[in-house]
Amino acid sequence: MNGITHFELEGARPGREEVLSAQGLPEPSALPERLRALLDDAFEEFDTHAEPRAIAGDVSLADLEDVLDGFDGPVGETVIGQIYPRAEAFALYVATLGIPLAERIREMFATNDLGRGWMLDAVASSGADRLSYLLSTRFEDELGRNGHPLSRVLPYSPGYCGWTVRGQKNLFARLRPEAIGVTLNDSCLMTPIKSVSGVLVAGPGEIHRFRPDFDFCDECKTRACGARMASVLRR
Ligand code: SF4
Repeated sequence: MNGITHFELEGARPGREEVLSAQGLPEPSALPERLRALLDDAFEEFDTHAEPRAIAGDVSLADLEDVLDGFDGPVGETVIGQIYPRAEAFALYVATLGIPLAERIREMFATNDLGRGWMLDAVASSGADRLSYLLSTRFEDELGRNGHPLSRVLPYSPGYCGWTVRGQKNLFARLRPEAIGVTLNDSCLMTPIKSVSGVLVAGPGEIHRFRPDFDFCDECKTRACGARMASVLRR
């Protein structure tokens, strides 16, 4: 999992159902005509402007612990802190849909083209998440070819489930994603928007299971961990 990847647009494009479900909208066949037109337009814009790419690098347990160093509280009281000690392999990654797409979204909002901007933003958010998924399956395939056919990979990211966005500082210092045009500002937000970062964690499916009863779970609106855990145990 070392080096830079330029993804084919075809693979990086999210599914329509994926985009709509993430926005709490009905499935494509039940979508009002106006929203369907916005969705078609957003996919055209995505195809024109997205430049999906990633940088990734394998790290040892000790390297990962260096990256995780600097938590505001005990690392064991976070999801990644509970998962990584049980894992077998790790790779850091940063992936992005690139500057032109981010710029197009910004332009739409700046010119009050709000409906189109909102839908393109939604497609791009799902597209960025898809890059994490593509990298996870690639890492899983690679481990399978190297004698670990039962390894299951999930991405864990700063900004989620107890790992604060400040965690990106150490991750960026080690991976240097400036090589694919992604930088971090003083608030630890990535530029361009529609970039994702994290660690791919590999091991038997069971290592990804945990009880979501951390203090920070009280404020969680998505409860996304349930579907993530189910997805990895289904494979
Ligand atoms: S409930 Fe939400 S915050 Fe808690 S572990 Fe699951 S996804 Fe993370």
